[in-house]
Amino acid sequence: MQTIGHWLDGKPFPGSGTATAPVTNPATGVVTGQVALATAADVRAVVDAAVAAFPAWRDSSLARRTQVLFRFRELLNARKQELAALITAEHGKVLGDALGEVTRGLEIVEFACGIPHLLKGGYTENASSRVDIFSIRQPLGPVAIISPFNFPAMVPMWFFPLAIGAGNTVVLKPSEKDPSASLWLAALWEEAGLPPGVFNVVQGDKVAVDELLAHPAIKAVSFVGSTPIAEYVYTHGTAAGKRVQALGGAKNHMVVLPDADLDLAADAAVNAGFGSAGERCMAISALVAVGPIADALVARISERARTIRTGDGTAESDMGPLVTRAHRDRVADYIAAGAADGAAVVLDGRGVRADGDENGFWLGPTILDHVTPEMSVYTDEIFGPVLSVVRVETYDEALALINANRYGNGTALFTNDGGAARRFHNEVEVGMVGINVPIPVPMAYYSFGGWKNSLFGDSHAHGVDGVHFFTRTKAVTTRWLDPSHGGLNLGFPQNS
Ligand code: NAD
Repeated sequence: MQTIGHWLDGKPFPGSGTATAPVTNPATGVVTGQVALATAADVRAVVDAAVAAFPAWRDSSLARRTQVLFRFRELLNARKQELAALITAEHGKVLGDALGEVTRGLEIVEFACGIPHLLKGGYTENASSRVDIFSIRQPLGPVAIISPFNFPAMVPMWFFPLAIGAGNTVVLKPSEKDPSASLWLAALWEEAGLPPGVFNVVQGDKVAVDELLAHPAIKAVSFVGSTPIAEYVYTHGTAAGKRVQALGGAKNHMVVLPDADLDLAADAAVNAGFGSAGERCMAISALVAVGPIADALVARISERARTIRTGDGTAESDMGPLVTRAHRDRVADYIAAGAADGAAVVLDGRGVRADGDENGFWLGPTILDHVTPEMSVYTDEIFGPVLSVVRVETYDEALALINANRYGNGTALFTNDGGAARRFHNEVEVGMVGINVPIPVPMAYYSFGGWKNSLFGDSHAHGVDGVHFFTRTKAVTTRWLDPSHGGLNLGFPQNS
C-alpha cells in the first residue's frame, strides 16, 4: 500500500511523524493508501523551505516567472487526463467531472500567465514641481493554502498560480481525504522549472493547520472548507497577524418564477443539484418554486433525476459515490430526518442500485418536496445528492428566504422577465448570482466568493481580488534634487 507524504524543496519528504490516515477509493471502499499526518516539526521544516526560497523567487524577473507559468500551463493541459484519473480514484467524482475541475483550474493558470499586466502600478509625473510618485505591488512572502476534499486540484489552483506569479512562495495543506493531486501538481511544477522551495506540500490535519496559523513566517492564509473551520482559521490567523481569506460552506437556492421555461429550469436544477453527487459548494440544494408551477416543476425534476445513472467514474455513469462511508451515512440520516419532519420523499436515493462495487459509498439522487425553513434538511449544508423543494407564493417570499439564510455563496433565478431578473441581482444578499445559470462560478478574471457565513475576510479568490490578496502596495515619492529645492521649511509638505 502506498504512503502519501509531503513535498519539500522540490522533492518528496516523508516527514518525521508516525501518524497516518487512510485514503479510500469511494467507489470500492478499498483503502488504497495511507497519508502522512505532519507533526508541528514537519510543518516547520516545510515552512523553512518556503522561507529560504522566497528572496530569490521574489527577485526573479517577471519574464522568468511567467515562463515557468506558461510551461506549467502547457504540461497541465497535455496531461490533465492523468490528474483527472487521480481525482476520480480518491474523490469518487466521475471522470468527465474531474476533467471539468482541472479545466477550471487551468483557467486560473492562464489568467496568471498575464500577471505582469496585473502587477503594474501607477505613475504620476510632476505631482508637485519635479516630484514624481509611483506605486508598486510586492509579494508578501511564504503563504499557506488549506483546501477541502471536494476540489483537490481546482481549489488549490484558485490561489497558487497568482501567489507564485506575484513572487510569493507557497505551502499547500490539502484535504487528507484525497491528498495525491497535490503531489502530482508539485511534481509538475518541478518539471516546469519552478525553483525548489517555491511550491511545497504538507499533508495533515488540525495539527498542521494550527502550526501554519501560528507560524510567524507565514504571511497569508487562503482557506476553503466548511463554515465552522473557516471561522476558526479566520479568527486564529488574523489574531496571529496574518492576512486571511476563509471561504466557507453554502446553501444555494435556485428560484423558479412562474414565467420560466420549466423544462430548461428542470434540466438546470437536476444538473446543478446532483452533479458531483452534490459535493460542490455551488451545488443547488434548495429549489424554490414560486406560485402555481410547483407541481409541474417537481414532476419534471423527478422524471429527469430517475434517469441518472449512479456508478463508479469509469463506467457509463453520471454521478459517483460520496467521499466516505461516514459522509454517505450522514447524508442518508438527513433524508430520514426530512421525512420525519414531514417532507415528502419524491425520490429516495437510499438503497440505490449503483453500477459499481457493492462496497462503494453509494447514494442515489433524492428529492424532498414540501420542505419548510425550520427543517434540518433546509437549515444545514448537507453536501450530498439531496434536492429540497420549498414552495412559496411570491417573488418577495423567495427573496426573503434567501436573504434570511445564514449562507450567501451562490444563487440563481430562472425567469424570462428582465425586470424581475434585474431586481433579483440588485436585491439578493449573495456573492455570486446566476440569471438562468444554475452554477454561476465566475471566470478566472472575475473573483469567486460568497457573502455572510460563506466567506470570512474581505478578499474573494482569483481575479483582481486574488492579485491584491497576494501583494501589498507601496507608494514611492521621488525628487531628483537641483538648486531650486534648497532652503529650510519645517511645515508639512505641500504641493507647489
Ligand atoms: P473541512 O472544513 O472538513 O476541511 C477543510 C480543510 O480544513 C481540510 O484541509 C481539513 O484537513 C482542514 N480541517 C478539518 N478539520 C479541521 C480542524 N478541526 N481544524 C483545522 N483544520 C481542519 O471541509 P471539507 O469537508 O474538506 O470540504 C467541504 C466543505 O468545504 C463544504 O462545507 C463546502 O461548502 C466547503 N467548500 C466551500 C467552497 C467555497 O468556495 N466557499 C469551495 C469548496 C468547498
